Amino acid sequence: PRFTVGLTGGIGSGKSTVADLFAARGVSVVDTDQIAHRLTAPGGAAMADIVAQFGPEYADAAGALDRARMRQLVFADAGAKARLEAILHPRIRAETEAATAAASGCYVMLAIPLLVESGTWRARVSRVLAVDCPETVQIARVMARNKLPEAQVRAIMAAQATRQARLDAADDVIVNDAGLAALTPQIDRLHQLYLTFSNGTAT
Ligand code: ATP
Repeated sequence: PRFTVGLTGGIGSGKSTVADLFAARGVSVVDTDQIAHRLTAPGGAAMADIVAQFGPEYADAAGALDRARMRQLVFADAGAKARLEAILHPRIRAETEAATAAASGCYVMLAIPLLVESGTWRARVSRVLAVDCPETVQIARVMARNKLPEAQVRAIMAAQATRQARLDAADDVIVNDAGLAALTPQIDRLHQLYLTFSNGTAT
């Protein structure tokens, strides 16, 4: 089977930034968040089931998922969250498998924001790579990027695994608490390591 690296990290930790740097080294990256967005875009493969299950008010005028409305619902209603996941997860899994099978390169990186929270994803990947930074840095980045108040960023973080839980689950950690230049040597080292593993020459 293909060697797969599961890339994870809390909101604003720098997953996309790190994924782009691996991609620049020729690594195929499969982004489960992008897959989820495609499934819930206008005409997306999950939209008919979502509308049938939750009602047409959960689609916007263009036919895409009304994310704000759905977020409110699943935040307050665990049963609704489970029903949404029952629609989305099998499709995300299937598309991830198809993209992984079609990918070129020695190994494939699967970007999975909630990897640590999901036993199925953890079992799927050969290795877990966590992007880590202090929570204060996460909060500052997301406030700046999404123009969100601090309390809202903290609420999102509270619904994710803790920093320590991610570190405990990780085989490898990228420290992303400084500028972009500090990432380069870490990514070069890990890329070499993963090439070694995927060639089966590691001990
Ligand atoms: P999300 O979980 O919200 O999708 P993410 O983990 O993918 O976030 P990024 O989008 O990569 O995180 O980074 C969050 C923000 O912080 C972005 O605006 C990004 O440009 C910035 N950022 C990330 N790493 C660095 C860094 N080392 N130096 C400066 N800015 C950074």
